[in-house]
Amino acid sequence: MIEWSDINREHTKTAYQETILIADGEPLGRETLKALLMSQGYNLTFATNGPDTLTSVKSIQPDLLLLDAMMPGIDGFEICKRLRSEKDVAEVPIIMVTSLDDDAARLRGLEVGVDDFITKPFDMAQLRARVRTITKLSRQRRLRTQELQEERDRNQAILEALGEAVIVTDINGIIKYINPAATLLTGFTRDESIERDWRLLQDEDTGLILGDVLDKVKTGKTWRGEIVSRHKSGDLIDVALTVAPLFVSKDPKEPIGFVSVQRDITPLKTAERAKDEFVSNVSHELRTPLSVITLIGDNLDSLYARLDDEKRRKMVRDIQQHSQTLNDLINDVLELSRIDSNRISTARVRLNFAELAREETEKLQPLAWEKTQVLDIESPDELMILGNKGQLQQVIRNLLNNAIKYTDYGGKIMCRCQTLVKNNKLANDGWPGLDHLSVGTWAALQVTDNGIGISEEHLPFLFERFYRVKSQQKIRGTGLGLAITSELIRLHGGKIAVDSKPDQGSTFAFYLPIEEI
Ligand code: ADP
Repeated sequence: MIEWSDINREHTKTAYQETILIADGEPLGRETLKALLMSQGYNLTFATNGPDTLTSVKSIQPDLLLLDAMMPGIDGFEICKRLRSEKDVAEVPIIMVTSLDDDAARLRGLEVGVDDFITKPFDMAQLRARVRTITKLSRQRRLRTQELQEERDRNQAILEALGEAVIVTDINGIIKYINPAATLLTGFTRDESIERDWRLLQDEDTGLILGDVLDKVKTGKTWRGEIVSRHKSGDLIDVALTVAPLFVSKDPKEPIGFVSVQRDITPLKTAERAKDEFVSNVSHELRTPLSVITLIGDNLDSLYARLDDEKRRKMVRDIQQHSQTLNDLINDVLELSRIDSNRISTARVRLNFAELAREETEKLQPLAWEKTQVLDIESPDELMILGNKGQLQQVIRNLLNNAIKYTDYGGKIMCRCQTLVKNNKLANDGWPGLDHLSVGTWAALQVTDNGIGISEEHLPFLFERFYRVKSQQKIRGTGLGLAITSELIRLHGGKIAVDSKPDQGSTFAFYLPIEEI
C-alpha cells in the first residue's frame, strides 16, 4: 500500500541548496559576507539597493535575506516592513546587519519584523551559526508549507473526483466550496453557488428544515437523513444527506463551518414508491375476487335449502372462476416479482422462433374453437434466434390468449412471424411501432384480431401494471399479462407495440434482435 507520507519523503530527497540574498549598498559589505558564506554550500545572490532588494526577494523567494540596515534607495527597515505586509514573501526570514551597539536600530528592526541581527564587524563563527540555524528553519518551514499545499491539492483532487456531492460552507451556511458532483446534483454552477446560502440551493420548503439541521450541527453533532431537494430546473430530487461540523485543530469544540455530503437517491426512492404502489394494488386486486368468493360462499351456506340446483351450480361456478382469477393473479405477481428482483433466467439458447410460434398457436386452438374463432398462423419454416424458450412461449401465449379473450365468438385471429429488415425506407406496413424500431434485422411476430379493439387514449398505458380498459372489465383478467409480456421482451433486447381501433380489432407486435448466431 502506498502511504502519502512515503510519497512526501520521496519528494523531499531531492538535493536542495538554500538561497541567501545578500542586500548591501556597499561593495565591501557584500564581498565580506560572500567570503564568509561562500564555502558553506549556499546559493548566494546579491542586491545593491532598496528597490532591487524588494524585486529580488519576490522573484527568488530566498531562504534568508541578509539585509543591511542602511540600504540606499529604501532603507532596510522600510524594506522589511513592506516585505512583511506582502502575502507571498511575508515569511522570508530576515537577518538585519547593523553596527555594533546600535540598540535603537535593533529596536526598530524588531518592530518591523526582523528575525535576528548580526553586527559589524562580523564574528565569523557567530555569523555562520546564525545563518545556518535560520536557513535550516526556513527550509523546514518551506517544505512543510509545500507538503501542506500538496495535501490540500490531493484532498481537493479527491473531492473533485468524488461521485458524491460535497458542499463546504462557513458557520453561517455560506458556500465556500462545491465539488463537480454537487454542481451536477443541484444544477447550479460553481460561480452561481459560491458565496450563496447553502439553504437556497435546496427546496424552499426544506430550507426551513435545513435551518434546523444547521442549528443541530452547530452543537457539534453530525446530521444524517433523507430530504427532498429541488434541482435548478425545478425538478424534485430525493437525496440522502449528511451534514457534519467542520472543526479546526486549534479549537475542536467550536465548528467553523459545515460539510454536506449528498447522494441522489431518486431512482431508489422511485423504485420504492413503485413497489409500495404495486403491493397496494396487489392487495386490492386480491381482495376483490376473495370478497366475491366469501360472499357467494356465505350465501350458498345460508340460503342452500332455498336455492334450486341450477342456482347452486351457477354459484359454485362463480366461485371456481374467481378462484381461477386469484390463482392467475398470484402467478402473475410472483412472475413480476421474479423479474423485478432479477431472479429470472437470462440464459439464451439458439431456437427456431417460427416453430415456437406454430407450437403455441396449436396449443391455443381448443380455446379458439370454444369461441368458434379461426386461429391461423403464417410463418417461415425456420427463423433462428437466441432466446429463452419458456419466456418466449409465455409472451406468444399471452398475446394469443388476449386476442381470443377480447374477440367475440366467430372472430378471426392471425399470427404472423417473419424476419424483418428495418431500414430507413420501411414505413409502418402493417407492423405497429416500426417507426420507432432501430435499423437492423429483427425477428418479428404479430397477433391480429378483429375483436373489440381499444380506443386510442388507452394505448399508451396498456403495458402498465394493473392497467385494464374499464369497458372491458367484465372479461376476466389481472391487468398484468401485458406488463409481464413487455418485461420479458425487454429482457430479450426487444420492443413491443400495438395498433388498435375500437370495434375493428387490435394488432400487437413484438420484435427481437437477431444477433450473430
Ligand atoms: P388482462 O389480464 O386484463 O387481459 P393484460 O395486461 O393482458 O391484462 O391486458 C391489459 C388490458 O389491455 C386488458 O385488460 C384489455 O383491456 C386490453 N387488451 C389486451 N389485449 C387486447 C386485445 N387483443 N384486444 C382488446 N383489448 C386488449
